[in-house]
Amino acid sequence: MTGTARKVVIIGGGLSGLSAAFYARKYYREAGIQPDIILVEKDKCLGGKIETLHRDGFVIEKGPDSFLARKTVMSELAQELEIDHELVTTNPNAKKTYILQRGKLHPMPAGLVLGIPTELKPFLKSGLVTFGGKMRAMLDYIIPPRRSTEDESLGELIERRLGTEVLENMTEPLLAGIYAGDMRKISLQATFPQFGEAERRYGSLIRGMTLGRKPAETHTGTQKSAFLTFRKGLQSIVHALIHELHDVEQRTGTGAAAINIRGGADLASPAPESGGSPRYEVVLDNGERLPADDVYVTVQNFAAAGLLRPHADVSPLDDVNYVSVANVVMAFAKKDIVTEYDGSGFLVPRKEGRNITACTWTSTKWLHTSPDDRVLLRCYVGRSGDEQNVELPDEALTELVLKDLKEIMGIAVRPIFTEITRLKHSMPQYPVGHPARIAGLRSELGRKLPGVYAFGAGYDGIGMPDCIKQAKLTAESAAGLLKRTPEPEAVLK
Ligand SMILES: Cc1cc2nc3c(=O)[nH]c(=O)nc-3n(C[C@H](O)[C@H](O)[C@H](O)COP(=O)(O)OP(=O)(O)OC[C@H]3O[C@@H](n4cnc5c(N)ncnc54)[C@H](O)[C@@H]3O)c2cc1C
Repeated sequence: MTGTARKVVIIGGGLSGLSAAFYARKYYREAGIQPDIILVEKDKCLGGKIETLHRDGFVIEKGPDSFLARKTVMSELAQELEIDHELVTTNPNAKKTYILQRGKLHPMPAGLVLGIPTELKPFLKSGLVTFGGKMRAMLDYIIPPRRSTEDESLGELIERRLGTEVLENMTEPLLAGIYAGDMRKISLQATFPQFGEAERRYGSLIRGMTLGRKPAETHTGTQKSAFLTFRKGLQSIVHALIHELHDVEQRTGTGAAAINIRGGADLASPAPESGGSPRYEVVLDNGERLPADDVYVTVQNFAAAGLLRPHADVSPLDDVNYVSVANVVMAFAKKDIVTEYDGSGFLVPRKEGRNITACTWTSTKWLHTSPDDRVLLRCYVGRSGDEQNVELPDEALTELVLKDLKEIMGIAVRPIFTEITRLKHSMPQYPVGHPARIAGLRSELGRKLPGVYAFGAGYDGIGMPDCIKQAKLTAESAAGLLKRTPEPEAVLK
């Protein structure tokens, strides 16, 4: 092959790093560049947070369990990897989601879009909010909009528009659950910028979300699946990427310790010349030095900060706190369970003061995950400001979860087995002002370390599709096929 050659080192072998390798290979070649890619992963296995366990006929996700269908970049990648035939939808008969309210499970009202009511009748009939709370939410139609585009917390906006009750009883369990976060601390612009846009454009959050509503986002019974996963688990996409990237050197079991500028490197030149000396070297924990023209830093922000600190102001990375959570998956014999499962699970508002933050009725929501005579439940423990239970020994954690399941769902039997996964420092919390500060960091990197790119779950979106989209846009831009680096908000939508 002719064209310029470019040495690329990708640091981090989670979904961001693997998809970056995939798209760098594709776009560099399209731009006439011959990429020579090395992927470096500190752990023994690739995939980062994604891990599927197959046990006794169950498909058990130890990390993420599905992705948002409307963020099509992940299905598109599955298509490019020729595994899209393995995609599965949720059980169409399990569309309901419940929210715990004073110890009782209430169905989410129909028409709730990302926690915002867009159908008035079901909202007004819901037992989740008092009459006073509903009237307060209706003020959203008349309260003048905030015109400023300056960032604020997600909680501030919801509380200002819809009141405290809707925030705490409806929106918080759903949205804060995604981040295991605190609504009053998480950045609006970095999570749901469309809420701010809806307020500014339509003068009302309810009106804006109603007009901008897409069918798959709603919780009514008839629409197509809002979530997708793979029949054999999410690890399918990791395996397919590993297989596809056979010509990428995949180094596992040793991390990157430093990124150095090589002596005599000309950082003013926008792209490395063919055959010229690479401008960087990535030093590994084992002492090896990998020359690189381009370096993709896709590791968690706290790890990225260590690599970039000698070169740039990394406070935008230091300020992203990572929350620890645990997944407690339990399998039961169906005959022992009296509860009728007619939904995908339930969410637990912070003020209920429970040990679990949510429970997915996995065997009902995803029919492929369990044998027919079994029930699989997945409970979540830990959220921002409430992480101590994650550290408990297995037996104590199991008992706490069983206590909640007994009180909420009447489950009085012991599980056939329990699988506990602790994901320490795994959920990035974007602080208010995060997008602008990350943009500042990237512009500093662009000036001081051209060819070094930082992205992943701690930057422009926590979901797996957000990670893939960042990887794709970065590779396209690095290959010179994009005019400019995309705005973070373009990634989130
Ligand atoms: C419990 C949980 C549930 C989730 N559920 C969902 C869900 O249902 N749907 C969804 O879309 N998203 C979900 N997410 C989010 C999603 O899983 C992650 O955002 C995504 O997988 C992150 O991918 P990443 O590659 O950016 O980061 P990671 O997966 O964290 O990968 C980063 C990698 O970098 C490696 N690394 C660190 N330091 C170094 C170093 N110095 N050198 C080399 N390698 C290094 C790490 O070992 C790791 O493998 C969930 C996350 C968690 C924690």
